[in-house]
Amino acid sequence: MKLTDIKGIGEKTAGAMGRLGIFDGDDLIHTYPRTYETYEAPMPIYSLKPGTMGVVAGTLAKDAVLNRFHGLTIVNVYLSDMTGRLQISWFNLPYIKNYLKAGSSYVFRGRIYEKNGRLVMNQPKMYSPADYREKFEGHLIPVYPLGKGVTNTVMVKCVGEALKEIPDDDFLEEDILAPLALMKEKEALIRVHFPRNREELTAARKRLSFNDFLLFLLAGKELRDAAKKTASDFRCRPDFRMLGFIAELPFELTKAQADAYKAAARDMSSGNVMNRLVEGDVGSGKTIVAVLAMMYAAFNGYQAAMMAPTEVLARQHAETIQKFFAEGNIDLTVTLLTGSMTAAEKKNAYEAIRDHRVDIVIGTHALFQEKVEYDRLGLVVTDEQHRFGVGQREALSKKGGMPHVLIMSATPIPRTLAIMLYGDLDISIIDVLPSGRVPIKNCVVDPGYRGRAYKFILDEVKKGRQAYVICPAIEKDPEDEMTGGSDLENVLDYTDSLRKIMPENVTVASLHGRMKAQEKDDVMTAFKEGNVQILVSTTVVEVGVDVPNATVMMIENAERFGLAQLHQLRGRVGRGTEQSYCIMVNTSDSEKAAERLDILNKSNDGFHIAEEDLRMRGPGDLFGVRQSGEMLFDLADIYSDADMLKLAKEVTGKLSEEDPGLKDPGHAKIRARLDKYMDRRYTV
Ligand code: ADP
Ligand code: MG
Repeated sequence: MKLTDIKGIGEKTAGAMGRLGIFDGDDLIHTYPRTYETYEAPMPIYSLKPGTMGVVAGTLAKDAVLNRFHGLTIVNVYLSDMTGRLQISWFNLPYIKNYLKAGSSYVFRGRIYEKNGRLVMNQPKMYSPADYREKFEGHLIPVYPLGKGVTNTVMVKCVGEALKEIPDDDFLEEDILAPLALMKEKEALIRVHFPRNREELTAARKRLSFNDFLLFLLAGKELRDAAKKTASDFRCRPDFRMLGFIAELPFELTKAQADAYKAAARDMSSGNVMNRLVEGDVGSGKTIVAVLAMMYAAFNGYQAAMMAPTEVLARQHAETIQKFFAEGNIDLTVTLLTGSMTAAEKKNAYEAIRDHRVDIVIGTHALFQEKVEYDRLGLVVTDEQHRFGVGQREALSKKGGMPHVLIMSATPIPRTLAIMLYGDLDISIIDVLPSGRVPIKNCVVDPGYRGRAYKFILDEVKKGRQAYVICPAIEKDPEDEMTGGSDLENVLDYTDSLRKIMPENVTVASLHGRMKAQEKDDVMTAFKEGNVQILVSTTVVEVGVDVPNATVMMIENAERFGLAQLHQLRGRVGRGTEQSYCIMVNTSDSEKAAERLDILNKSNDGFHIAEEDLRMRGPGDLFGVRQSGEMLFDLADIYSDADMLKLAKEVTGKLSEEDPGLKDPGHAKIRARLDKYMDRRYTV
């Protein structure tokens, strides 16, 4: 279904959605709410608490007043009920005054602050009492990922329209669904977007995460069975240059790193195709393991390619490897290949790869575009694989031979879950950190602490160090700008205000996913070289970025992120020998949020954090923030949906026992769905 065929979507909205990665009706339906907001009934003024969302209702006794203050306009109105009086303010929305006349009745929903010992509500959204009662009160309202030109209201409307078009037909029959008490897919899709209550949402999520796991496991099984039967065309033999290089490294490998490399080398020499997962916490030093494996392939006359999830990371890896090779006098050539290179640069790279003038190619998805022809591609490494899926091998084998595959993952999946997901993949776990690391010092603070945090950052900057500040949003939500305040910090405004707060000689820069690749590179390079002291960024720095001189990580709206993601973000500091700090700003007053953040506060161990997270959330706990970064699945979360993973594993086992290859006509619908899934996931 084309986006523009959906009622309410014109070319302009379709374009804006495209920038969010939504290209057709299917994408739209699978753009799940980030979270849900519960709209509560209006509350008495005396019960409001600072730092929370409040809902108040009443009739205005007086007209609103417009004040000007340092070029800012402020509209103030006072609302009274039997229990108290509340000041309500809007900034830079002068026209709103026209609606706020004495005698008019409204419901206001906004964040409550404390000012000079009194409570105020800032930038609330306003509703007519009847509208609020009918459409909002008691409902779970979906909150979607948004961007320029795509407001939440637009998403709600368009998703609603798109849902009307889904056929009733389910790819799973009742004989599978009924014993597991799973609802129909169509019902589940409708209810995950528009749940009437929490129970309904729970049930919908169960079915959809079951789908996610089932398809992932079936596809994985199919790909692995194909790989297993194949002897390797790229058998490697030990090369004396490896030992020399390892001995000359600027650091000594940890035992876990050495073991992981040895295991990979053994696999590559075995005569069969390697299929190994290297799992290690952030900062455990996975890159060098990948570098060693690639060198090993290259010394054996094969090419090696390494795929990174972002251009920033690809460039960083290429530079790191070039530096290693220069320092170790290694006569191997490395090239970068990313989507944002100019046509001429790409053409050069293609030719060099085809003629085997380069041994090691580092890049993004661009590595596997049709135009790239490798010459004896013997090894493919994927870094932070959860951004890709596990099946690139299928597509690659079409490019000549089945390469060895090494997958690097920082997702600290507990072993039991890893085995369920990856089955017979070989796993190396890097469970020791390089020596000489100083444990990161953590703190969780409320927004009132910001001033002190800035002073602390400035002190570190004066010592020559650098800092990251992470915000969950890129810019102000356009809808919020119209009607009221947002409680999410955004990179653009934050950068502006930090520039004003910091002295002039401190350079503050922004980084976010909507910048052009070249701009991102420039900012990252400037940060790496120390020309930028404070980097205000979205989670684009979450994965892999390695700037050992950065010692402070400040995370705004920390409660908005999953624990695994926070741990990844924190992993950007503490990579050198200096003491590093992580400041998590908790802007929520929920006890649960505080308890979750406390887990991170008390531990720097990713495996421990993953386990605690699992324990705290438990299966079926939907309202924890989703583990992002875990893009293997559309919706399922390996932690909180572990029970569905188990069921899907059982069903997969049964299906492949009864009917390997799903050739039985009774399984035709599953077969068709799996083919579609594999096309989508594994065509690179
Ligand atoms: P990750 O596992 O998160 O990908 P990296 O490979 O980026 O971690 O390594 C993090 C940092 O630790 C890098 O700066 C790297 O050079 C350094 N490093 C890796 N291995 C060692 C080691 N054995 N001893 C000291 N430093 C190391
Ligand atoms: Mg890494």
